[in-house]
Amino acid sequence: FSNKKVMVFGWARSGKAAAQRLFELGAQVTVANGGEFKDEAVYRKLLAAGVIFINHDDAASLNKTFDYLVKNPGINYETALVKRAVQLNIPILTEVAVALSSFEGRLIAVTGSNGKTTTTSLIRDMLKSDGQKVTTAGNIGIPVCEVVKDLTVDDTLLLELSSFQLMGTPDIRPDIALITNIFANHLDYHGTRENYVAAKFQLTKNQTADQLLVLNADGQDTTDFIKRTQAKVIEFSRTQSKYMARTEGVNLVISDHNLMPLTDVKLVGPHNLENILAAITVAKLAGVHEAAMRQVLEMFGGVAHRLQYILTAKGVAFYNDSKATDIEATQTALNSFQQPTIWLAGGLDRGDDLMRLLPNLTHVKAVIAFGETQQKIVAVARAANKPVISVTDVEKAVPVAVKLAVTGDIVLLSPAAASWDQYKNFEVRGDSYVAELKKELGL
Ligand code: ADP
Repeated sequence: FSNKKVMVFGWARSGKAAAQRLFELGAQVTVANGGEFKDEAVYRKLLAAGVIFINHDDAASLNKTFDYLVKNPGINYETALVKRAVQLNIPILTEVAVALSSFEGRLIAVTGSNGKTTTTSLIRDMLKSDGQKVTTAGNIGIPVCEVVKDLTVDDTLLLELSSFQLMGTPDIRPDIALITNIFANHLDYHGTRENYVAAKFQLTKNQTADQLLVLNADGQDTTDFIKRTQAKVIEFSRTQSKYMARTEGVNLVISDHNLMPLTDVKLVGPHNLENILAAITVAKLAGVHEAAMRQVLEMFGGVAHRLQYILTAKGVAFYNDSKATDIEATQTALNSFQQPTIWLAGGLDRGDDLMRLLPNLTHVKAVIAFGETQQKIVAVARAANKPVISVTDVEKAVPVAVKLAVTGDIVLLSPAAASWDQYKNFEVRGDSYVAELKKELGL
């Protein structure tokens, strides 16, 4: 990017990191943003250094003299400024591409429709537990441009990438690439399933024969990928026994060794078993010792708010799945337990048909409903012949759940709805649940 003329579009955390990094790399930087710039340190520093700031997103500000447009991954390709870049044949990148241009160490990159954060976190913990130096960034919440400056050829960079980020990272070439699964979601942004799959294929497009691509033999049709990639493909599967990472009876197996009994694994749910198989496959390929894998799997209770194990009190295990903002996520959560479950649900009403949850209530012993979708949750519970109690919010649901639960029960917050009817976001809702729980239990 040295001496290149680059427009950074979007001034959120990743835009700031990209502008800063581009400046360090010697680019001539212009920042465009659909609003005023806050008078803060990074703004003042770059302004003083000659970076140009434009406080609107008019397409006309982009002209042929620009070499690249670096856009925030959340900005749609239909936005006028982005369309103008397409018209002018200006390559459209994301901050990940800027960051990777100067990175020479080992790159492990994870994408997929679901399970990205869980799998990336497991891989990170396993590498760390093994004593390897690893830096994690990307879709997991840290712009890659924020971390890349301090990395050397001896470092491992572990990236979680959304398909939006991949589309703007044309030169990516991971040493180990993982696609957790491909579901046909996110179609509103990508238009068709083909486009979506193409964005995922981007992860392996530049890989060569000495690089590795890990695929889920259960979660996607892998034939097309295997045919088209140059990389060495390694698959994992929950159901087929021919792969390196698999389950055999009650055991988790890697490379023909019994790693550990499944009962010692802290994460729950068949979907998380997929994430575990993906993680141990990548960890194995990255040289992680089995003891380190075992140590992590015995400890790791899940990423915050994603079917996260919180604590056990008086024989009752409490889980926080506040991230379950749609029906599918709550179906996954309810299907993860065989024990009697007290289910806490409700939130923003988007008009979804919550009756779709009916088949998943087999192990539910009582329902506590709140929020805008309260009446819909009550209707589902009644249709399933389950006792149901209505309360105003998550905080009020906690003491009711604690009172109802007996040894052997699960208490699960999995709202099947967004949080915005009562909370700023799902994190606040989940944190409030956990805080209330600890208060109620006197912990
Ligand atoms: P992502 O980072 O891809 O959004 P997360 O690891 O944050 O994925 O998990 C988010 C939610 O997606 C989980 O709470 C669960 O409902 C669902 N999920 C996670 N892993 C899988 C999987 N392997 N298959 C299907 N659904 C999954």
